[in-house]
Amino acid sequence: FAKRQGRNHLHFFKRAEEHSKRVDIHLRNRFQQAIDEEKLALHYQPIIALQSGEMVGVEALMRWQLEDGSFVPPDTFIPMAEATGQIIPASEWAMEQACVDLKQMLEKREQLCVSVNLSVLQFSRANFFEQIITTIEAHGLANNRIELELTESILMDDSDHAIKLIERFRNAGIATSIDDFGTGFSSLSYLKKLPVNRLKIDRAFIQDIVGKSSDEAIVRGILAMARQLDIEVVAEGIETAEQAIRLTELGCGFGQGYYFAKPKPLAEILKDLE
Ligand code: C2E
Ligand code: MG
Ligand code: MG
Ligand code: MG
Repeated sequence: FAKRQGRNHLHFFKRAEEHSKRVDIHLRNRFQQAIDEEKLALHYQPIIALQSGEMVGVEALMRWQLEDGSFVPPDTFIPMAEATGQIIPASEWAMEQACVDLKQMLEKREQLCVSVNLSVLQFSRANFFEQIITTIEAHGLANNRIELELTESILMDDSDHAIKLIERFRNAGIATSIDDFGTGFSSLSYLKKLPVNRLKIDRAFIQDIVGKSSDEAIVRGILAMARQLDIEVVAEGIETAEQAIRLTELGCGFGQGYYFAKPKPLAEILKDLE
């Protein structure tokens, strides 16, 4: 009996696995269709200078809406697109779109910057640097209006290559940020080798910054180290006034989160800039 039950279990798992693969192929095909038909969108979330409360930039976040009006979460389709390689065409589209939209934002406020998220896959492609430069130039934008967000995972692939690339961007006036800082596997010491302009502290450390002394200590430590290395800091996922106040007191320069604004379509950002 036990044996039969075991077999049944195996059978069940196999079925579940096949099912999830089927869903993946389905999702992949639909994502391809969304790329081909330019059905993807970008939403923008304001980045705020904590002292002044002023919006200094926006982060471009990809959105994929299905025919029924529902959105597929980026945490579902971005990893899939990275696995299939579809992130490459999707990212090229996003970079173009961000440039088009930025031109409209700059008409309202000259000093605004757009941050674009990069995938590890892009980083290891030949001519990636040239491609970014060409796109920015084709839209008649200055390099220092575009910022690139990368995660610590780019360092795992080939950190020498990554460091050189970050350096080239920096020399060209394109700032880079380490996104989701603190969630990666790397040690803090690698930061001094990285010519990044800023780091974005992951929301996980911001969530309980008021009340949980260990998280506050971590954030204090990151801020002290960043100051030493002349790196700017953005706190991600600020949801309450208390968190914003605490971070300002601790000397964190910038913040982003639902407390200030959720990611929203370009039209709403333009309205905010009126
Ligand atoms: P991320 O780059 O760390 O972006 C920040 C995420 O936190 C966004 O999720 C944003 O909506 C969310 N967020 C912002 N403020 C708050 C807050 O106060 N509370 C909470 N709970 N969440 C907040 P989103 O848009 O779902 O994107 C998830 C991730 O998907 C991004 O994390 C990024 O890694 C990836 N992603 C999004 N767009 C792109 C893209 O165009 N290219 C690439 N390669 N990755 C992207
Ligand atoms: Mg980001
Ligand atoms: Mg992040
Ligand atoms: Mg993230």
